[in-house]
Amino acid sequence: MPYLILSDIHANLEALKAVLSDARGRYEQILCLGDLVGYGADPNAVLEWARANVTVAVRGNHDKACLEPETLEYFRPMARAAAIWTREVLTPENLRYLETLPRGPLHYDGFDLVHGSPVDEDEYLFSLSDVAQIRSELQSGLLFFGHTHVQGGFLVSRNGVKSIEPIRELAIEANYSYLLNPGSVGQPRDGDPRAAYAIYSPRERVVEYHRVSYSVAQAAAKILTAGLPESLAARLYEGV
Ligand code: ZN
Repeated sequence: MPYLILSDIHANLEALKAVLSDARGRYEQILCLGDLVGYGADPNAVLEWARANVTVAVRGNHDKACLEPETLEYFRPMARAAAIWTREVLTPENLRYLETLPRGPLHYDGFDLVHGSPVDEDEYLFSLSDVAQIRSELQSGLLFFGHTHVQGGFLVSRNGVKSIEPIRELAIEANYSYLLNPGSVGQPRDGDPRAAYAIYSPRERVVEYHRVSYSVAQAAAKILTAGLPESLAARLYEGV
């Protein structure tokens, strides 16, 4: 069964809707790698959608920050302001849903889901050396991660670690370990402002990377209307 793999939606309902309509009919279950909320203006709508539609999700650092305000001291001011605002507007039901999200790694159907890295939900896997340091923690040949908001990933073999570009169809081969990032739905930071997602088909052993345009202007306007930091609106246009 094909899976729609989403990460870092960050309360961006416009981006989420564009992804769902682009991917319609091509998946059977939705898996989520955390950071459903934080930064964007629609945390309740995104969580209501997640409660009804997401099969499994792991918790992200922004999801955790809404539940544990003491972790906010490690956040930059912009992220902290967004987390405080999010916590204030969330309904009790949606806060409770966040509490139920497991911390990764979550083993599911032969592969693994994490937010940051298999070691820590708050650890970034940006570079080859970041991945080399955690390679002994890999439990399966395929791990999906988020947190960096950069679509792509890494291939680990006996010879070392290589980067994987987000090509349209990536064949998953035996004897390698893959760490794959579907990119961020709601706040891409890889220079491409379009919403990012991936589809994994276990039977064909193929991961597809996708991008889709959405109304950035609408999402940005909502951020400003909510009184969230202006820079959170501006960065959506640039994808940084
Ligand atoms: Zn994030």
